[in-house]
Amino acid sequence: MKIAILSRNPKLYSTSRLVEAAHARGHEVRVLDVLRCYMNITSHNPSIHYRGEDLTEFDAVIPRIGASVTFYGTAVLRQFEMMNVFPLNESVAISRSRDKLRSIQLLARKGIGLPVTGFANNPDDIQDLISQVGGAPLVIKLLQGTQGIGVVLAETHNAAESVIQAFMGLNANIMVQEFIKEAGGSDIRCFVVGDKVVASMKRQAAEGEFRSNLHRGGSAELIKLTPEERSTAVRAAKIMGLNVCGVDMLRSNHGPVIMEVNSSPGLKGIEAASQKDIADLIIQFIEKRFETMETTKDKSPTRTRTRGKG
Ligand code: ADP
Ligand code: MG
Repeated sequence: MKIAILSRNPKLYSTSRLVEAAHARGHEVRVLDVLRCYMNITSHNPSIHYRGEDLTEFDAVIPRIGASVTFYGTAVLRQFEMMNVFPLNESVAISRSRDKLRSIQLLARKGIGLPVTGFANNPDDIQDLISQVGGAPLVIKLLQGTQGIGVVLAETHNAAESVIQAFMGLNANIMVQEFIKEAGGSDIRCFVVGDKVVASMKRQAAEGEFRSNLHRGGSAELIKLTPEERSTAVRAAKIMGLNVCGVDMLRSNHGPVIMEVNSSPGLKGIEAASQKDIADLIIQFIEKRFETMETTKDKSPTRTRTRGKG
């Protein structure tokens, strides 16, 4: 197969591991800087150009789109989709996952366990908002934050009130969440590929920190999931429409609660903790899906291929 990886930097651990795994399984692979892809949006012959070259031959595309380039990145990915290139994760699912509120609304609708969460617009509603999530201590989150930046623990009612006021004053979109104290500064990352959790790890926040993000100095270790945690992760991935994702959950007194579903989960921490070749599992998944796609296409007389065989 010919596989494109949309990534800004081929030297990143995850990107280089995916390249390695694709080569090892005999595929051609090319890393494309998503911001250098540009496109021609026509109904009959949609195309993508890259530094003056016409990109036509790809069978599958692996999006590794950073949070800061979500808008442009998903537009490029959508163009690949228009050209019938199989996307590891679809553009619409990635957009969904980048908005924490939208994600948990979708998960809530399907009955997935979540921390009690509130969202409001007017400063007059702050008191009610705080009591809705059970009062302080509580967590305040920017809807589009990543790597722990934009997540604040307000320990007292007064602190909560003034931080929420400040964010509202800046017109920042925030949500307010019950603080899961019993998680003890740790969370669980479940790495989902297809309909399986292929690896999981527990991330523990650094001393004096409640955010367990590895970018915030957290450490990772292997963990054994309960069947409930496993099935919650797989269901969450399915609801979000993501084939490959990192489902992050907390162990609360009322069972696993999901914090977020990450559509470009890093491979470094999870491969180190699990000692598994996750990149290889991802490439295998693409092979299987691509095969199914090709078989269905062959059977459908109405569909025509818009790209070369490759
Ligand atoms: P980000 O996208 O920035 O990683 P998260 O929602 O994943 O934002 O929060 C970052 C970290 O903060 C989590 O990994 C977790 O350790 C901690 N955290 C987030 N929400 C809660 C909560 N409601 N209760 C306890 N800890 C939380
Ligand atoms: Mg997170």
